[in-house]
Amino acid sequence: MADTRAERIARLIEPLRVRPGSRVDLGKDFDPRYKADLRKQAGVELLRAGVSLLAEYQERLAAQSTFGVLLCLQALDAGGKDGTIRHVMSGVNPQGVKVSSFKVPSSEELDHDYLWRYARRLPARGDIAIFNRSHYEEVLVVRVHPENLERQRLPEHLRGPEIWDRRYREINNWERYLTDNGFKVVKVFLNLSREEQRVRFMKRIDLPEKNWKFSAADVRERRRWDDYQHAFSEMLSATSTKWAPWYVVPADRKWFARICTAAVLAHTLMDIDPQYPVVGEEAREDLQVARRELEDEAPDGVPADPYAAAHPG
Ligand code: ATP
Ligand code: MG
Repeated sequence: MADTRAERIARLIEPLRVRPGSRVDLGKDFDPRYKADLRKQAGVELLRAGVSLLAEYQERLAAQSTFGVLLCLQALDAGGKDGTIRHVMSGVNPQGVKVSSFKVPSSEELDHDYLWRYARRLPARGDIAIFNRSHYEEVLVVRVHPENLERQRLPEHLRGPEIWDRRYREINNWERYLTDNGFKVVKVFLNLSREEQRVRFMKRIDLPEKNWKFSAADVRERRRWDDYQHAFSEMLSATSTKWAPWYVVPADRKWFARICTAAVLAHTLMDIDPQYPVVGEEAREDLQVARRELEDEAPDGVPADPYAAAHPG
C-alpha cells in the first residue's frame, strides 16, 4: 500500500523537477496550466489523501526527532502561496510546523549578512519549517531591483556583477551543509501565468473582501514581469541541485498546485521514512514497574488495566 502511494507521488512530481545542471527557460519549459491527467474532483480527493499522509509522516518525524524539513515556497504576487500553505498543512499538528514569511528586510536584518535572517528561522530536528518567500528573494527581487542590494551595504569591491553567481554558489553550499546535517531542503516555485495573475488581481479589486490583499506595488511589480521570468530562469538553472532540487509547480489551477506541493513534501518525508523510537530493555522494565504500581491503584470493581480490558487481543 505504502509503495503504491509512494510510486504515484513520485510519478506526479517527476515532470515538475528541474534536472540539476539543466538550463531553464521558464516560459518555454514549464506550462502554468499543466494538470497531468487529473480532473478537479479526483484532485480534491487526492489532496485529502495527501493531507492525511502528511499528518502521519509528520508525527513520525517529530517522534524520531532526527531530521528536520525546510519547505521553501516562491511565487510571484497572487501565485497562491498563502492558500497552498493553508491547505497542504491543514492536517498536521501545528506544534510541529513553523511558518515564516519574509518581507522587505528590517534595518536590523540589513545589519547582517544576507542569509542571517533565514538561518534564524530554520527548523529544529523533528520540525517542518515553511518559508513563505525565502532566501531566494536575495537573487530575485534583489536582482530585479538593485536598490535592494544598495541597502545591504556590502563592501564596494564585493558588489560587482559576479555577485549573482556567487550567491547561487553560497546558497547551494548552505543547503548542502543543511542536508548533510539532517535537514532536508525542499523547494517549490508556484509558476503562475501572466494572464492568470491579471485575473486574480482583478478579482482582488472587484471584491471588497479581497481589497486588502491588493496593493499598488503589485501592479508595479507586474510591469517587471519579463525581468522576473529571467531572474527565475537563471535561479532555477543554477540552484536545482541533487541534494535540493527545485520543483516548478503549475499554479494557474489552485487545486493542482496544492496537490503537487503536498506531493513534493510527502515525497521528501517518505524518503526520510522516520520511525517511532523503540524503547530499550531497561526502559521496558521501567514500564512494567509503573504498570504494577498503577494496577495496584485500581478502585474496586474496575479492571486493573482498563485499556487492555477495552482492547482485548
Ligand atoms: P501577500 O500574498 O499577502 O501579498 P507577500 O509575500 O507578497 O504576501 P507582501 O507584504 O505583499 O507579502 O510583500 C512582501 C514583499 O517583500 C515582496 O514584495 C517581496 O519582494 C519583498 N521582499 C522579500 N524579501 C526581500 C528582500 N530580501 N529584499 C527586498 N525585498 C524583499
Ligand atoms: Mg504581496
